[in-house]
Amino acid sequence: MREEEIRPQALFNRYLELARKDVDRFFSDRSGFVNVPCPACTSDHAELGLEKFGFRYLTCLGCGSLYTSPRPRPALVDAYYREGEAVRFWASDFFKMTAEARREQIFRPRARLVAEWVDKAVRDRRKPDTFVEVGSGYGIFLEEIAALDLFDEVVGIEPAPHLAAICRQKGFRIIEKPAEDVLPEELQAASATAFEVLEHLYDPAKFLEAVRRFLVPGGLFLFTTLTVSGFDIQVLWENSKSIYPPHHLNLISVEGMERLVARCGFELAELTTPGELDVDIVCNVAAENPNISIPSFVKQIIYSRGEEVRVNFQQFLKINRLSSHIRVVALVCENRRNHDPSKT
Ligand SMILES: [Zn+2]
Repeated sequence: MREEEIRPQALFNRYLELARKDVDRFFSDRSGFVNVPCPACTSDHAELGLEKFGFRYLTCLGCGSLYTSPRPRPALVDAYYREGEAVRFWASDFFKMTAEARREQIFRPRARLVAEWVDKAVRDRRKPDTFVEVGSGYGIFLEEIAALDLFDEVVGIEPAPHLAAICRQKGFRIIEKPAEDVLPEELQAASATAFEVLEHLYDPAKFLEAVRRFLVPGGLFLFTTLTVSGFDIQVLWENSKSIYPPHHLNLISVEGMERLVARCGFELAELTTPGELDVDIVCNVAAENPNISIPSFVKQIIYSRGEEVRVNFQQFLKINRLSSHIRVVALVCENRRNHDPSKT
C-alpha cells in the first residue's frame, strides 16, 4: 500500500489547508478551552511537546502520549464536526474520491480480520448476534461486514445526519447520535469496531466506557487510531501531518493505550501497530519540503539503501510496535462490566 493511493497528496493538502482555516474560524476564542490531564493514563505531569496553530500539544511524563491541553470543550468540538469546512471536504470530496481504493485496501481486509477475531474470541454470540460500527461514515465497512454474512444484524452509529442517511439507504440500521449517548435499550452487541475515531475525541475514556456498556460481557472491540509512538510522527514531529489540530487531539502512546484500555474495563487481547505507510510518509513529506531536518540515519533508510531496505525497515516497525497506526483488540472484562474507572 502507498500513501498516494489512499491519501493523494494534492487532495490531502487541500484538506489540511481547510483545517488550518477552520482553526481560526472556530477556535480563535480560547475562552472555551479547558486544561485536561493525560487522556490515556490521567497523569497531570506533562511537558510541552510542540505548538501548532495556537494548539498546545503536551507529552505525558507518565505514559508518553501526546495530547492537546488546553483543548476545546465538547460542545465546541461537536459544533466543529457539524459545521467545519474541512470536515465537509473530507466527507464530500476526499473520502468519496478515495472510497473504492480504501474499500479494497483497507475495509475488506479489516472485515476479514473482524471475522477471524469474532471466531477466535467471542464466546457469547447470543441471538440476535449484532455487530456495530462506531463512526460508520458512508457505510462501506458495514457493506463489507454484511457481505461476510456472519451476523444477524449489522448496525452503524453515525452522528452526522447526511452520512446516517446514506447508510440507511444501503439498508442498515443507524443510531444517529454519538456513541456516548447510546442507551442500553437501543443496542446490545457482541462485537464492535471504531476506525480512526479516538484521535478526534474530547474524552477517549468516556468513549471506551460507552462502547463497553453496549457490548455484552466478553464482547469484542476492535479499533484503530494514530499513535505518537510511531516512526513517521517521531521523525517528522512538528512537520507531521498527523499532529494536526483541530482534528487530532489525542495521539496515545503504545504504553498509554495499554493503561487506557485496562482502566475502561477491557482486557487487552492484542495491541499491534500494523501500519504500512511510515517510511512512505516520511519520504513524501521530505520530498515536499526539502528544508526540513531529517536525521542522516533516516536518510540512509529512505533514500540511499534502496527499496528492499525501505520494505524491511517498515516490517521492523510493524513487528516492534513502532508504526504510527495502532490497532487494538479488546474484550469486555467478564466480571467488571459495571466497573467504575474512577476507582482504579
Ligand atoms: Zn499519560
